[in-house]
Amino acid sequence: MAASGPVPTPGAGAPQAWRVALPVPLPRLFDYLPADGAVPVAGDIGRRVRVALGARELVGVVAAVGPAETGNLRGAEALDPGPLLEGELLESLRWLARYQHAPLGEVLATALPAALRRGEPLPDTCTWGWELTEAGRTALPALRAGKPQRLAAGLQAGARDEAALDDATPGWRAAARALERRGLAERVAMSGAAAGPVGQGPVLNAEQQAATDAIDPGAGFAAHLLDGVTGSGKTEVYLHAIATCLARGRQALVLVPEIGLTPQLLARFRERLGVPVHALHSGLNDNERALAWTTALRGEARVLVGTRSAVFTPLPEAGLIVVDEEHDGSYKQQDGLRYHARDFALVRGRALGVPVLLGSATPSLESLANAAEGRHAHLRLHRRAGEAQPPAVRVVDVRKRRLEAGLSPELLDAVRAALDAGGQVLVFKNRRGYAPVLLCHDCGWSAQCRRCDASMTVHAGGRRLQCHHCGARQPAPQACPDCGGLALQPQGIGTERLEEALAARFGDVPVLRIDRGSTRRRDALESMLATLGDAPGILVGTQLLAKGHDLPNLTLVAVVGIDEGLFSADFRASEKLAQLLVQVAGRAGRAARRGEVLLQTHHPEHPLLLTLVHGGYHAFAEAELVQREAAGFPPFAHLALLRAEAKHAEPPAAFLQAAAAALADSGIALDVHGPLPAPMPRRAGYQRAQLLLSSPQRRALHAALDAVVPSLHAMPEARRVRWSLDVDPVDLY
Ligand code: ADP
Ligand code: ZN
Ligand code: ZN
Repeated sequence: MAASGPVPTPGAGAPQAWRVALPVPLPRLFDYLPADGAVPVAGDIGRRVRVALGARELVGVVAAVGPAETGNLRGAEALDPGPLLEGELLESLRWLARYQHAPLGEVLATALPAALRRGEPLPDTCTWGWELTEAGRTALPALRAGKPQRLAAGLQAGARDEAALDDATPGWRAAARALERRGLAERVAMSGAAAGPVGQGPVLNAEQQAATDAIDPGAGFAAHLLDGVTGSGKTEVYLHAIATCLARGRQALVLVPEIGLTPQLLARFRERLGVPVHALHSGLNDNERALAWTTALRGEARVLVGTRSAVFTPLPEAGLIVVDEEHDGSYKQQDGLRYHARDFALVRGRALGVPVLLGSATPSLESLANAAEGRHAHLRLHRRAGEAQPPAVRVVDVRKRRLEAGLSPELLDAVRAALDAGGQVLVFKNRRGYAPVLLCHDCGWSAQCRRCDASMTVHAGGRRLQCHHCGARQPAPQACPDCGGLALQPQGIGTERLEEALAARFGDVPVLRIDRGSTRRRDALESMLATLGDAPGILVGTQLLAKGHDLPNLTLVAVVGIDEGLFSADFRASEKLAQLLVQVAGRAGRAARRGEVLLQTHHPEHPLLLTLVHGGYHAFAEAELVQREAAGFPPFAHLALLRAEAKHAEPPAAFLQAAAAALADSGIALDVHGPLPAPMPRRAGYQRAQLLLSSPQRRALHAALDAVVPSLHAMPEARRVRWSLDVDPVDLY
């Protein structure tokens, strides 16, 4: 089964070997010989192989073919007849490994769907459908009414594929089996998915048309920043660009944030594009993910919509990449290989020679800076499309006001008025749980996590404590563990407590809490929103509510408890808060009725709020960019964060000290801050420290990392810690 290659030229020295990238944290390749005795050839690069490493069996990818470095090589079993990773994708992944200073084997393992990473064969991508047999056609008029009869009637016009049946006819499988037993219907392989009808969209307005005209899927790589207020019709622009891409016979990849990939969005894409739309997200099981990946690899999938890791989809016939909500934090992987899907999408777009469209109502400062410098074309949509008006924003000063569960009288009155007018209300609070702290009023004790430097959050109306950092849970104590007093009080307000207070006060309407606690199951959010429908009601939630499902009847958004975010030390905190506020506010008044936004704060004079409310997001972004430049932070500096952790504080400090010394020895000028304890020094029982590297020149930063990272693996200090390197960190903790 293995490819047989030319016999090596006599006298060429050592025999050729497969140089295999394995998913191990070592910056090197491993040599093997084909187990079947074939001669390695360059055409083997990209094939998966199963090998033994020590006592372990691993699946790796042939990354190179070259002379064996040692004799006595072990054999490797090829898993695919030809390369699985090749061309642009393999080259882009090699680039990613260099950029992240990560072992190629770990990068390739991250890029492959789990089933393929484990060595399972490529799935069968054939589409199956059902059609009536001759006997079925004859019998149809005489069939008794029921599900089999309804299915048979549905197949009268011709075969239908299983995905279409899933969408249209719940419970069809049992009916199909019943027909099959009687010889009336049979399962058949479908030749290519049939194109459906293409739905009509609205006529584009002038700005949308200009943006659509600027994106030329035939003109090679170009990065476009589609910067349009919420509801300005960015999705319409994506749909037009994708339709053009499809008409040219090319594939389109659309990245969306985890929470943005709703059934609503997929339905809109399917209806408007008239071709199957393949979804790739964390809710799929391993087989489904491998299947979607493989249909893309074979060019069968024409439109793929997926979350972060979908950026690794093979695109042999690429025509366009879209990144929706490009500012969204979920595009950055926060463990393992810390890649940024938006940034990697740009790298792939350049390598593929196709346009990349970044869309957002609140673009990241990086993308705005790129647009300002002319690296991205800046396409603006200033107004909401259709009927919708921008919401009116009001800052509610709550200093000295009597608050009820943190809610001011003005806010409660506005909620009542919105409900009475038949609208829906969103109360946004970025803290889940009942209360952030459990405090003893007698002695000042508060419940702390045993394994983290953090308070336990009160849950379940005060009965349970939970650490949001390590997940530890315990029942809340009845009496104070320190003084024995009975004056334990939940301090502060989380979404559970807001829900309780709002339900007590507005008993006539449903109050739904939407946060990670209440919507652990995928689809739970959708079904909760479906039960609410368009009826008056209150949604209480965290940033999960800032995007995703469209709520046309939402007329009031009340934002409470943003004050913590105004004074965070993190250099990105202002940007994140501004994006969140604008995105949440954008949920109000998406349809014909004008929306209202209330921002309740103790700091009505805070510059961030003033700039946002009076100048809008772009005024904020301009001011923030000036500050970033003055402070030497991205996008004016390039950062890398070296993190280390261990059970005790000394090994991380020693490791980072050694790393700092090696950086100094490299002779490359770089700002090195630390080693310092992480902002949360202890988490899940580990003591954490970090070294922040910064340079105004990306090139200098990477030169220093190139010089030092390979040696980190070999340092004796490295053996006593868990360490990781985060290039372009989003969070400095
Ligand atoms: P965004 O992606 O910018 O939030 P959408 O594309 O979802 O905006 O559009 C918001 C709403 O406006 C949708 O209901 C959409 O159908 C409608 N819409 C978009 N473009 C137009 C247009 N040119 N004319 C009328 N309605 C439009
Ligand atoms: Zn006490
Ligand atoms: Zn904890």
